[in-house]
Amino acid sequence: MRILDAHVHLGEDCVFDEVQTEQEIIDTFNEYGVYGGIIQPFIPRMYIKDTMAIHDRIAAMTRAYPNRFFGMMSMNPHFYREDYEKEAKRCIKELGFVGIKLTPIAHAAHPSNKDSIMVFEVARELGVPVMVHTGAGVPFADPMQIAKPIEAFPDVKVVLAHGGGANMITSAIYLALRYDNVYLEPSWVSVMNLEGMYKQVGASKIMFSSDMLANLPVELQKYNLVFKNEADREQVFYKTVTEVFSLKLA
Ligand SMILES: [Zn+2]
Repeated sequence: MRILDAHVHLGEDCVFDEVQTEQEIIDTFNEYGVYGGIIQPFIPRMYIKDTMAIHDRIAAMTRAYPNRFFGMMSMNPHFYREDYEKEAKRCIKELGFVGIKLTPIAHAAHPSNKDSIMVFEVARELGVPVMVHTGAGVPFADPMQIAKPIEAFPDVKVVLAHGGGANMITSAIYLALRYDNVYLEPSWVSVMNLEGMYKQVGASKIMFSSDMLANLPVELQKYNLVFKNEADREQVFYKTVTEVFSLKLA
């Protein structure tokens, strides 16, 4: 069965001191039989040229593996709006990226402040989903803080990365149940929380992801323990992410 990873990082992160290379992603995916996924930047330094450089690196990877790897744009929303819009347009229209990431903790952006609302406006205009980090970094990363844009932009699909994390999973589940445009990406949640999420929101709202390569085999094992039904396994391993991000698979 095809497995797609909805949340993979490339580059060097100046906030969390993390590094992942193209080769590490390819090697790890090959080792564990993961077909491809959506690559997003680690947080670069707060310069437009650094932001563009990591987007270009992601684009090169998507070109090297067409219909297998896809790009996700991530840029600090506190840049001038015209700069943010210009780079978002370049990523989606020219580089073929499929979504936008907002990381409240690393971008120092509350999900319902003016600059974050701008992110949802740009996503609506470009017709792509927004993935928002949730969990670590409260209050900014509390899923309930995203309720305002979720309600204001019913036509923008919102993926709650980490499904609220260990402590706010109930809020993430609540939002996924209440709003049609909300989906859960439950990397790092416990196996019991994943099971609870599955029982409450169903496979059509859940997408597989690792976030970090070291976590990939752990996530695979969790999914193998929780999802036994073949149709639901297909749904969480590749169908949900394909539907939400309108991915064109080979
Ligand atoms: Zn991440």
